[in-house]
Amino acid sequence: MNSRIQQILDKAVDKNSLSKEEIIAVLLCESSHNDVLFRAADLVRKRHVGDAVHLRGIIEFSNYCRRHCSYCGLRCANKDLQRYRMTPDAIYQAALDAAALGYRTIVLQSGEDLFFDADTVAALVRRLKKLGVAVTLSLGERTYEEYRLWRKAGADRYLLKHETADPVLYQKLHPDANQAGRLDCLSWLRELGYQVGSGCMVGLPGQTAEMLAADLLLLKELDVEMAGIGPFIPHPSTPLAEAAAGTAEMTLRMVALARLLLPLAHLPATTALATIDGYGRTKALSCGANVVMLNVTPLEYRSMYEIYPNKNRADSTPAAARRQFEELLAGLGRPVAEDVGHSPKSKFQRTVS
Ligand code: SAM
Ligand code: SF4
Repeated sequence: MNSRIQQILDKAVDKNSLSKEEIIAVLLCESSHNDVLFRAADLVRKRHVGDAVHLRGIIEFSNYCRRHCSYCGLRCANKDLQRYRMTPDAIYQAALDAAALGYRTIVLQSGEDLFFDADTVAALVRRLKKLGVAVTLSLGERTYEEYRLWRKAGADRYLLKHETADPVLYQKLHPDANQAGRLDCLSWLRELGYQVGSGCMVGLPGQTAEMLAADLLLLKELDVEMAGIGPFIPHPSTPLAEAAAGTAEMTLRMVALARLLLPLAHLPATTALATIDGYGRTKALSCGANVVMLNVTPLEYRSMYEIYPNKNRADSTPAAARRQFEELLAGLGRPVAEDVGHSPKSKFQRTVS
């Protein structure tokens, strides 16, 4: 064991803080150090957020998108994709079914689809809140007023990944947007009292270990309640079709480091990781993750929410997927959380939905 890596990990477990150079050293260390890194993250996870795993039900209700993110299959220039929108009633029904299965958080996600205007979303949030669930929105960049209205309607959390902390890479990947705008949205969400989720992709073309370290430090600076970290997976109908995918190993290192640096954050074992590695979810749960988002979108829409290839299995109903996942968790000795799963930071624990 390289004593420098051991020292860095000891410091991280003790202080939950690392310099950029220390993070880079861990990201670039030999694979033989993975075990000790993952065990350190698992220890911190157990100590700070316990064994329970929070299951969230995600409804991907529209794949229309006005944006041109160069990595994403939903980008508006992708004419190969059949577009769909669920009606508010169909979304409500999917949420009702998910709540009946035991989900205590419903995540509503879509492309940036202005068809769902501020009032439509607010009315939907109000309906969902009557089910006694926590509501997470992930609808992309919208105005301060829209975020305010949805928060007032009862939305508890908002997920808006920063994607990459590197400004030059950000601009390359988002020709029609800018990083300052994204960061403004994140600060508005914070100001409005949302539990804020952000995160990044791992293995983007041109991304270096230094940029990944900056991602982790940005998540820490934002003091996020949730950090979604998944591999980039190339989509054939995008400008990045020929790029290589991120690796499971680097993604797991990022998840482990995120746990060390953000001991109280909710960290999902992402679908993207499960897509490139059949054991991805189990591995992530063993190195810091404590959240899983399971798809509760009606089967007929699944194949059309193709952010990247092979994302959604359309052969497993929400009930079957949940049962299967509960069995997997039982095998790992990890109970399913019974509460709504707000952030364990004290100010949010008091916000009972
Ligand atoms: N439109 C909203 C937004 O961009 O915030 C929410 C939906 S978007 C599809 C959700 C996430 O998918 C993005 O934050 C991005 O990180 C991820 N994503 C998109 N394309 C991807 C790809 N090719 N590989 C991995 N993740 C991808
Ligand atoms: Fe649209 Fe989100 Fe995909 Fe960008 S990442 S193209 S905003 S769905």
